Amino acid sequence: MTAIWNSPDFDAHESVHLFADEKTGLRAVIAVHSSHLGPAAGGTRFWRYADDAAAVTDALRLSRGMSYKNAMAGLPLGGGKAVVLADSGKTKTPEMLHAFGRAIESLNGRYVTAEDVGMSDADMTEISKETRHVAGLPVADKNVAGGDPGPFTARGVYLGIKAAARYRLGADSMAGIHVAIQGIGSVGGGVARLLAADGARLTLADIDDDKLQAVAAETGAATAGLHEIMSVEADILSPNALGAILNKDTIAALNVAIVAGGANNQVATPDDAQRLFDRGITYAPDYVINAGGIINVGLEYLGDMPVDEVNKRIDIIPQRLTAIWDESKADKIPAAAVADRMAQHLIGRR
Ligand code: NAD
Repeated sequence: MTAIWNSPDFDAHESVHLFADEKTGLRAVIAVHSSHLGPAAGGTRFWRYADDAAAVTDALRLSRGMSYKNAMAGLPLGGGKAVVLADSGKTKTPEMLHAFGRAIESLNGRYVTAEDVGMSDADMTEISKETRHVAGLPVADKNVAGGDPGPFTARGVYLGIKAAARYRLGADSMAGIHVAIQGIGSVGGGVARLLAADGARLTLADIDDDKLQAVAAETGAATAGLHEIMSVEADILSPNALGAILNKDTIAALNVAIVAGGANNQVATPDDAQRLFDRGITYAPDYVINAGGIINVGLEYLGDMPVDEVNKRIDIIPQRLTAIWDESKADKIPAAAVADRMAQHLIGRR
């Protein structure tokens, strides 16, 4: 246990739980970073790790991220995260998910799960057979919170992009504003469609060429190569695919005034947040702009909330971003650092 406390990713986590179930092969870590604002909420990742220590590190790092994200989304939820360690065949059985559900239930609501990489809404349904502390379940009624978070995330990112264009470019409308979008999946594709409807000029990139051509035709967009998209001359770059894509080299090559997209963990290191700031680029901190999905899932867990309430809370994302940019300008520190500072304050850590 000393190893966990000494880990560089240990940040006064309230508790870290290790679960093993011999019968089903379940091995899982649940990290509760903070329950200051409410039950620690965050998805479960199903992943094959290089070693057990890497799984614990991931749970520590991701659970802290969830504390920040939930706090900045204005949700009465703390931050937690679970990882289920996959074997080489990535075996995942209903029985294993039931055992995992019992593990969650044993924490009596201190931790609430939902899907993350490697977990589907069908898996959440299996988990829900053993615990009620689970969200991200399929919903039949489109008027209540829940279901696919992608469109909600896309709407928040779209509103954040509009706020950035207003703040930085003084643009009252997106007509003619050039946005380069990396990744046009659930989030990026939604953002592209919403911006196209506003008359924005789009350049898109995706590793899936068929999807790329289809979305480009639908939105009247130009296309760019995978590397080219990072240095396209445009007003805004919107990363919606990979994490850690803003590093020393890519930041030096950026040809935009604004970076605003839905991908998680876009900035590789705190030095890179400083590099963006030094280049005078307006950056929308990822966990603030991409909170639409967690707002949807969070309100699903908190009770059958109407979808209008989800949208009302997503509408506040531009206000939060503007407050961050104002503070970044006034204190001369990167927007990402301002967001972390605000989140730490909200969870009572500073
Ligand atoms: P997705 O799988 O639907 O879409 C990702 C897209 O990126 C795919 O079209 C894929 O082909 C493309 N892609 C992958 N590698 C690429 C590369 N090197 N260059 C260009 N395109 C590439 O996933 P998503 O749900 O749209 O999520 C996108 C990002 O947003 C992820 O970082 C995710 O963690 C983050 N995010 C998603 C949500 C959500 O609600 N779905 C919420 C918060 C954050």
